[in-house]
Amino acid sequence: MGRRTRDTVTVACANCGGQDAIQIEITLPDDTEVRFNSCHRCEHRWWEAGSSVIDLNSVLEKARRR
Ligand SMILES: [Zn+2]
Repeated sequence: MGRRTRDTVTVACANCGGQDAIQIEITLPDDTEVRFNSCHRCEHRWWEAGSSVIDLNSVLEKARRR
């Protein structure tokens, strides 16, 4: 069997319905935990914080803040 990659889980893609999009947890400098999701089938990428989808711009904004 394959190795499990640390901190990576697979999720369903909201765009194409694929079941093998990857999700990576990232903690921003302001301690906000966000999750980056990426689907390799349709190239759909999205970010989540808590239970809601967030805009990439707000991620970048938080990352920029110190
Ligand atoms: Zn997809």
